[in-house]
Amino acid sequence: MSVVRQVRVHGPGDVRVDEIPAPRPGPRDAVIRVAACGICGTDLSFIRLGGSRGPSDTPLCLGHEIAGVVDWIGSEVGTVAVGERVVVHPGNDELGRIGTGAPEGGLTSALLVREAARDGRLFRVPDGMPLDVAALAEPLAVGMQAVNRAEVVRGDRVAVFGCGPIGLFALATLLDRGIEDTVAIDLNPRRRALALALGARAALDPAACDVFDELARLHGTAPFLYGPTPATDAYIEASGAAQVITDVLQRGRAGGRLSVVALHYQPIPTSFLLVMMKQFSIHGSMEYPRRFADALELLERRDLSPVITHRLPLARFAEALGVLRGTADCGKVLVTMGDEA
Ligand SMILES: [Zn+2]
Repeated sequence: MSVVRQVRVHGPGDVRVDEIPAPRPGPRDAVIRVAACGICGTDLSFIRLGGSRGPSDTPLCLGHEIAGVVDWIGSEVGTVAVGERVVVHPGNDELGRIGTGAPEGGLTSALLVREAARDGRLFRVPDGMPLDVAALAEPLAVGMQAVNRAEVVRGDRVAVFGCGPIGLFALATLLDRGIEDTVAIDLNPRRRALALALGARAALDPAACDVFDELARLHGTAPFLYGPTPATDAYIEASGAAQVITDVLQRGRAGGRLSVVALHYQPIPTSFLLVMMKQFSIHGSMEYPRRFADALELLERRDLSPVITHRLPLARFAEALGVLRGTADCGKVLVTMGDEA
């Protein structure tokens, strides 16, 4: 019996590279030889929790930021051909989400994509785009949706809290849309440098300045009953720091918007009196844009490869996790399978 390698979570803090039986696809399925798969904060949360919502009897297969090569297709799959390079949409239907609860995960050498015949499961990677860059499509789609949810329009002044990959991809989306008055905020100098390299107007260290005073200096001020506020129109919260939400509602402008894309597991006390008085809008964001292909098209227009700071083979998965768990001194951490990325 042939086996494939698959990263699985067995319980809280217990993640392993397992050998499991090779997929047995049906006529509407495909098998992808994964070349690169990103790991992210969601994966760390699942490992900590011991599953997608806590421990369960079935190990959780990880990996949802997936690019690879079509290795096999069923007789009813007409959308792609064997040998084509693709990005896998993790799915958001009755099949579950690959890597976040479905029976499949992208941190594997051979990924079964059920119902590959359906529209919107597999996206062809443009010629000339390396597969490791293509693996950024999923987190880029997350960052893009955070911008969409903030309802940002041209001329808006925007602050992005957190310059991990999602914050950086939100930033890249803003710049791609001609919204240039963007300020990035992160504690880590490497991440601030990445934000500046992508084109942020400024990158602030919240440990070294009062971020809202700086925003007022950069973006100007807007009037409010209790005194002027920074004129920043929209905030994207990609840091996961509870204080950011409290501060944005406290010190943001009247009519401002906040899009929350980071994971906040604990409740956060906020002043809803201020939310009311400022007519402040708060939007959650965790899905993708309606057109997932928007992410691949952006990757074709702009070089986001500098966001990839670490590439490690599956055999060194524990090390890759260590980088992500460490001091946040990284951009996107990719796990590579085979030598095709
Ligand atoms: Zn992710």
